[in-house]
Amino acid sequence: MSKLIYLDNAATTQVYPEVLDEMLPYFTEHYGNPAAIYSFAGESEQAVAKARKQVADVIGAKTDEIYFTGGGSESDNWALKATAEAYAPKGKHIITTAIEHHAILHTAQWLEQHGYEITYVGVDENGTVKLDELEAAIRPDTILISVMAANNEIGTIQPLKEIGAIARKHDVLFHTDAVQAFAHVPINVDEMNIDMLSASGHKINGPKGIGVMYIRKGVKIRSFIHGGAQERHRRAGTHNVPGIVGIGKAAEISSANMAKNNEYETKLRDHLIERVLNEIPYTRLNGHRTNRLPNNANFCFRFIEGESMLILLDQAGICGSSGSACTSGSLDPSHVLLAIGLPHEIAHGSLRLTLSEKTTLEDIDYTVDTLKAIIERLRSMSPLYEDFVRKNKEE
Ligand SMILES: *Cc1c(COP(=O)(O)O)cnc(C)c1O
Repeated sequence: MSKLIYLDNAATTQVYPEVLDEMLPYFTEHYGNPAAIYSFAGESEQAVAKARKQVADVIGAKTDEIYFTGGGSESDNWALKATAEAYAPKGKHIITTAIEHHAILHTAQWLEQHGYEITYVGVDENGTVKLDELEAAIRPDTILISVMAANNEIGTIQPLKEIGAIARKHDVLFHTDAVQAFAHVPINVDEMNIDMLSASGHKINGPKGIGVMYIRKGVKIRSFIHGGAQERHRRAGTHNVPGIVGIGKAAEISSANMAKNNEYETKLRDHLIERVLNEIPYTRLNGHRTNRLPNNANFCFRFIEGESMLILLDQAGICGSSGSACTSGSLDPSHVLLAIGLPHEIAHGSLRLTLSEKTTLEDIDYTVDTLKAIIERLRSMSPLYEDFVRKNKEE
């Protein structure tokens, strides 16, 4: 393919060359098992300790509150299932939201089948969690509030500090799925009263298959993966040393460049949003206009089916996504777009474009020009659109 414009950074990101460089020796020279006694393994052990500090520093945590997992999905499963198990004597009620990632939603549904009650709090038209509804949902038997830090589809950033304050006031644990927000927007676990937090390597230019769970000291959850004594008896399995080194380095780099990258990406994103809204009729922006991830734009185009749009974009070398990666391929419209109040037929025509600091102004302009032509072409073939235009003329 001649041209490749990658605008799907919410689905996954490219590993930074500096991250790969740090990882490589841990496949070859330093392949020792960090749990071993002999000094050859010390190199691996130190590398894991260094990565733990790099990750902890991003969110203001202590190193012994950081646990390495097999990814964001595992961390989410662990947070919900292990809290449910450990705190069942207090109650079996959990609060989450209607717009969570499926790693949370499907885990919550599994818990519902196992005797737990889940309240799915709604969001407003921008995708911001309704705080009054959240607080009103708390009961004496509520053990956990799990609200994502930033939404993977529409990019809306949640008021974590306010949610943390509500959780603390009612003595309920607070977990956040921060996979999209970690090392992308500022998070401090103490200021925000966060008790547990999930993050993932491949969303921050680190490797796939490695994740992090922050667990505040004093939270009583136990192991989710049983086996050896790794991770202070809380997460069994031989350490994925190259992966751990990779997520540590990626966290350090992303966090150090956060302000600079966010400023750059916000400008490009706003240019993209303005051009699309001004130049393509019957279009809406999904998610909060300003309080959103700096790299996220999500649109609905009326009379357009998301899949056909993605295929034509791909033919022009542009990678975008419709809904989330997990739902594309299914005919169901995104649960997030339904939760912000969009009707089914509009929710079908959505497009998510997520930028990186490598995206250029030329990339964005080429994408908008291409998109304009694609939308015109698809609409010209749509009987619904024809009807709509005719009716508009008659009026
Ligand atoms: C990608 C993502 C996950 C899953 O993380 P993996 O590391 O791919 O398992 C969970 N939550 C959110 C919000 C995500 O964007």
